[in-house]
Amino acid sequence: MIQANDLSKSYDQHEVLKHISLTIPAHQVVAVIGPSGSGKSTFLRCLNGLETITGGSVSINNHLLKATDKKKTRLKTIHEIRQDTGMVFQQFNLYPHKTVIENVMEALIIVKKQSKSTAKTVAAQLLKRVGLQEKEDVYPSKLSGGQQQRVAIARALAMEPKIMLFDEPTSALDPELVGEVLKVMKELADEGMTMVIVTHEMRFAESAADRILFMADGQIVEDSEPKAFFAQPATERAQKFLAKVN
Ligand code: ADP
Ligand code: MG
Repeated sequence: MIQANDLSKSYDQHEVLKHISLTIPAHQVVAVIGPSGSGKSTFLRCLNGLETITGGSVSINNHLLKATDKKKTRLKTIHEIRQDTGMVFQQFNLYPHKTVIENVMEALIIVKKQSKSTAKTVAAQLLKRVGLQEKEDVYPSKLSGGQQQRVAIARALAMEPKIMLFDEPTSALDPELVGEVLKVMKELADEGMTMVIVTHEMRFAESAADRILFMADGQIVEDSEPKAFFAQPATERAQKFLAKVN
């Protein structure tokens, strides 16, 4: 479902991602962990074309994006990739002047060209799925951070993505609100969604992920099964990292 081949990303002279190659099969749940500045966000953003790659290639659901692509080809491929991927960020980025259900309906009407009434039915189902059926007509500012993030997840799901990318979805939340968001993510994982999750929630990574990628200095330093990784990471860098976050 996801394939990176010798993927690199530089900003000017600074190489932020260094020749990353990996394959993520459909339905796999991958947790990406590592120190701040190691390239985790950049890696996610390269997967869905939010950043242009400067070396190698990325393939998402058989849409191949190469560093050597001409602009026109690249834009076309990115458009296709966006149809297949949903992304959730640390900041929820909801439209403040739209109600919860209108936030979810937006893409259904604009991108999926659904009628307003169809969009409303679909959006209501999605909100039910994230446990927010009672909040349809409320404005985002009236919701807790955890509720807002669940709306953001419902909004991403509205596009019926084949892959969900999460970049520290719970990092901006008060501790007591983290669980409700992780619960929704765990349900998605259990339903077979292909997911790549950048997270600092080690217990969640261990229990929900099929695979751990440990990144440092723009490289995937470890690619392990969660149990093995958390019991005893292979590299000193990962050992030090875990000692600090736990
Ligand atoms: P992480 O998510 O692991 O904290 P990032 O992917 O955000 O790491 O950043 C990796 C490196 O790339 C950092 O050194 C950061 O300063 C650099 N970087 C990220 N975005 C940009 C940008 N738009 N321009 C220049 N450097 C950037
Ligand atoms: Mg980041």
